[in-house]
Amino acid sequence: MAGRFPVGMLAAMPPTPHTTPEPGEARIRDRGDACPGALRLHPAEDGRLARLRLPAGRLTSRQVEALATAAETLGDGRISITSRGNAELRGLADDCGASLAALLDEADLLPSPTHERVRNIVASPASGLDGLGHADVQLWARALDAALCAEPRAAALSGRFLFVLDDGRGDVAGLGGDVKLIADADGTAVLWPGGRQVFRLAAADAVRAALAAALAFLDAADAAGTGAWRPRELPVTHVPDWAGALAAAGIAAEALPVPPTPFSAPPGPGALGDGHLYVLAPLGRLTAAQLRALLPADEVRFTPWRGAVVVGAGPGAAAGRLGGLAAHGLITRPDAPLAGVTACTGRPGCAKSLADVRADALVALPGPLPVHFSGCERRCGHPHGAWVDVLATGTENDSADSYSVDDVPTPRTSLSEAVAAARGPATPTR
Ligand code: SF4
Repeated sequence: MAGRFPVGMLAAMPPTPHTTPEPGEARIRDRGDACPGALRLHPAEDGRLARLRLPAGRLTSRQVEALATAAETLGDGRISITSRGNAELRGLADDCGASLAALLDEADLLPSPTHERVRNIVASPASGLDGLGHADVQLWARALDAALCAEPRAAALSGRFLFVLDDGRGDVAGLGGDVKLIADADGTAVLWPGGRQVFRLAAADAVRAALAAALAFLDAADAAGTGAWRPRELPVTHVPDWAGALAAAGIAAEALPVPPTPFSAPPGPGALGDGHLYVLAPLGRLTAAQLRALLPADEVRFTPWRGAVVVGAGPGAAAGRLGGLAAHGLITRPDAPLAGVTACTGRPGCAKSLADVRADALVALPGPLPVHFSGCERRCGHPHGAWVDVLATGTENDSADSYSVDDVPTPRTSLSEAVAAARGPATPTR
């Protein structure tokens, strides 16, 4: 349904200044967050940028086609996968907002204009496909998205507020999250609202509990009046009454001691379960042709590790499909040179960047540790857990960019050796 978006929603917003509170001090925000959205485009050096929330990273075949078309006809022809499994389009024209909104809306990618920036849901990407996990949290993600969009008050959440749904395997539980649900045995789930309290409840109540926790955060944020975007920014005097919120929603919950966060490594590229595939986007970016190459599929799921699960690639078709995707330049093997290598936007798309980090990242050699190239100290999109930090530090001798690798100054000319040494021994070839 094109044309239902107020023109004001299409205006580009300036970036948000970052302020860092002292330890133990509540963060004071004097404005709402300015996260880009599909309707609120961000001005960048290479044109406008749109960030499209994809709950659990999910795209139907029709939506894959729509996103590829949007990139080709309105943007620079590429689709970036973010560290939350969302999609970004870059190089958009100043006046493309209405056309982009209509195209996305036509593909059901904008179910609620008022909620489009708050649909931040990360879920275990292989859930329901490989027999692991205690529940299919991809289904939880769809139910939570519908519940969020149906709750007018939820539109007040910041564009940074994140729901994390882990099916019990531990692949996404460590990715932060303001409200976290972890499926457990015997039809139960563990709710971590805000990170400092934990509750066990029936899995059937999991989605309602996540929404109740988000609304309890909004109530506490309103009462605090500090403009908090996330629970950890609330003053200690305004910790939400999580237990009371669950009880008010009619949800039976048992408080637990806070356990260690479960952890498992993300999947490596290749065959996944029976008839599914997983591939990585080189440096987190797909061309429209690479995105379309993921079809035919029942659906595609972008992952927080900048990959795509191809659901329903066809029984027994894995080997053939993987070969075809490799021919399109996608990463299909864990020992591929660029597996585990990510980079921020860098020059020329970001004015803050001291280098063309995406070009320089191509020198990276295989190794077990992830490595991230950043054009400045903000380190946008860096991985979680242990990773090698490659940071642009300026121009050396007026001709070549220089870097630091895990804080060790490194001339660009010896960057590949320094990165390889920091990543550790190369993964054995299969
Ligand atoms: S890390 Fe710095 S240079 Fe890279 S995208 Fe972020 S702000 Fe720009």
